[in-house]
Amino acid sequence: MEKVDSEVNSEVNSEVISETVTEVVSEAVAEVISETVTEVVSEAVTKVVSDVVPDVVSKVIFHEDVCKGCRLCTTACPKGIVVVDTDKLNSKGFHPATVKAEDMEKCISCAFCATICPDVAIEVRK
Ligand code: SF4
Ligand code: SF4
Repeated sequence: MEKVDSEVNSEVNSEVISETVTEVVSEAVAEVISETVTEVVSEAVTKVVSDVVPDVVSKVIFHEDVCKGCRLCTTACPKGIVVVDTDKLNSKGFHPATVKAEDMEKCISCAFCATICPDVAIEVRK
């Protein structure tokens, strides 16, 4: 027996809806994956640049495990770029001081941060 028009229309509509939903979901998933990959790669590159090769890119180098998180250096920086990293704990259990990679170019190598640090946790390059 042949299908009536309404049955055929219903099947066609279901197919169109299914294809559209699949397309939208697939685009959304692709976008999320793309953003996540970009974020992960960007974080990894920043970490490599700031942690693995600090001597090459940093004017100011923090010896994190020496830092006791007293924040004196954050008050001394005329550029306001020294912060404590509240997302990190060093081996002593303190939030270590740092300059974020994106702020490093603002450093003028004045060494005020290094001079004020009671634990000699900071090195500054000219
Ligand atoms: S060297 Fe000077 S400008 Fe650079 S982080 Fe230290 S206090 Fe700030
Ligand atoms: S002054 Fe020294 S010990 Fe204190 S937070 Fe800064 S780097 Fe750490």
